[in-house]
Amino acid sequence: MVSPDRELQFALDTRRENSLYRQRKILQSAQGAQVQVDGQACIGFSSNDYLGLANHPVLIAAFQDATNKYGVGSGASHLVSGHSAIHQALEQELAEFTGRPRALLFSTGYMANVGTIRALSDSGDLIVQDQLNHASLLDGGFLSRAEFQRYPHQDLPTADQILSTSTSTSTSTKRKLLVTDGVFSMDGDLADRPALADIADRHDAWLMVDDAHGFGVLGANGRGIAEHFDMSVEQVPVLIGTLGKAFGTFGAFVAGSDALIETLIQFGRTYIYTTALPPAVAAATRVALTLVDSESWRRQKLHHLIAHFQAGARQLDIPVLESVTPIQPVLIRDDEKVMGISEYLLDKSFWVGAIRPPTVPRGSARLRIALNAEHDESDIDRLLDTLATAVRECR
Ligand SMILES: *Cc1c(COP(=O)(O)O)cnc(C)c1O
Repeated sequence: MVSPDRELQFALDTRRENSLYRQRKILQSAQGAQVQVDGQACIGFSSNDYLGLANHPVLIAAFQDATNKYGVGSGASHLVSGHSAIHQALEQELAEFTGRPRALLFSTGYMANVGTIRALSDSGDLIVQDQLNHASLLDGGFLSRAEFQRYPHQDLPTADQILSTSTSTSTSTKRKLLVTDGVFSMDGDLADRPALADIADRHDAWLMVDDAHGFGVLGANGRGIAEHFDMSVEQVPVLIGTLGKAFGTFGAFVAGSDALIETLIQFGRTYIYTTALPPAVAAATRVALTLVDSESWRRQKLHHLIAHFQAGARQLDIPVLESVTPIQPVLIRDDEKVMGISEYLLDKSFWVGAIRPPTVPRGSARLRIALNAEHDESDIDRLLDTLATAVRECR
């Protein structure tokens, strides 16, 4: 018999030979514009903490206060004994924030997506998703008992066609879920929500939008893509948000009608069978929600930096994709080359994530530059100059 380790080693070696091996870098500071990585001080361009709230003193104070009162652990799942007054208050505030009747906290976005799709679908139902949706949405489709189909990225005619074909062959009771990222996490582009809502409406499908990267960032008040496109709970009945990105903390939520939230409390397995978030995390998130309003300069500065980056990259012929979000992908395509460029950048004290397959499609390896409100124009100018050299020199 081949030993388990030898068998595993074979797949690991193959991944290494294909330049797809992943290694963790060790962060030795808080998130922010300036970070310490593997013993080196650098400017961080690889965090989803877009508004710079993860290390905000007011969030830290709220976290500490809540820890003094509630301790560290929540002790149980929400349905057993882990649902604290802080969780309850945050859920109400998230409902107000999103303009939905109710909201429900989940421990992670991954779990919110898998659990929601599973709770809303059964065998005989149909789930239709964009091929570039976040892995947690796709996994939700794979783990459900429903039929699961994907359409090419942003190819709405195909989405429409999949939904209409299924209509003609099925009974009228079959439920259909049309699922999309709001902001695509590796491309930074926005889903065409109004068009998707039209398609959903035409086929009696429910539109589910995961706005992990839109909350706090998009819309005049940071209410995310629903505010950006002014879309009601009728148009987007299932809205997902995460708290570990622009809100700077951890966790996730689903927002929608009372019936939707009660359904998830009763039938959402990833909601029911897991420990509630620590109350202190919820306390810090409550403060983050207020800062999205009171420190709106963060969002305004971020959008200024985004425009500055796009203009500068174009001037220097850097192959940046068009994006109005803090996710700024630079398409390098080659897996080995993207690693070479990211190492070159790190050597010059810029920490930029290199994203390779299977996280992105084959042949579309890229740098994923993430901007944040703590950056300055000069940070971006220096990154762009170094990047232009790196793209020219690394082969
Ligand atoms: C990050 C992300 C998630 C996962 O959220 P976690 O809270 O980190 O588990 C889900 N969907 C999208 C689009 C994301 O970018």
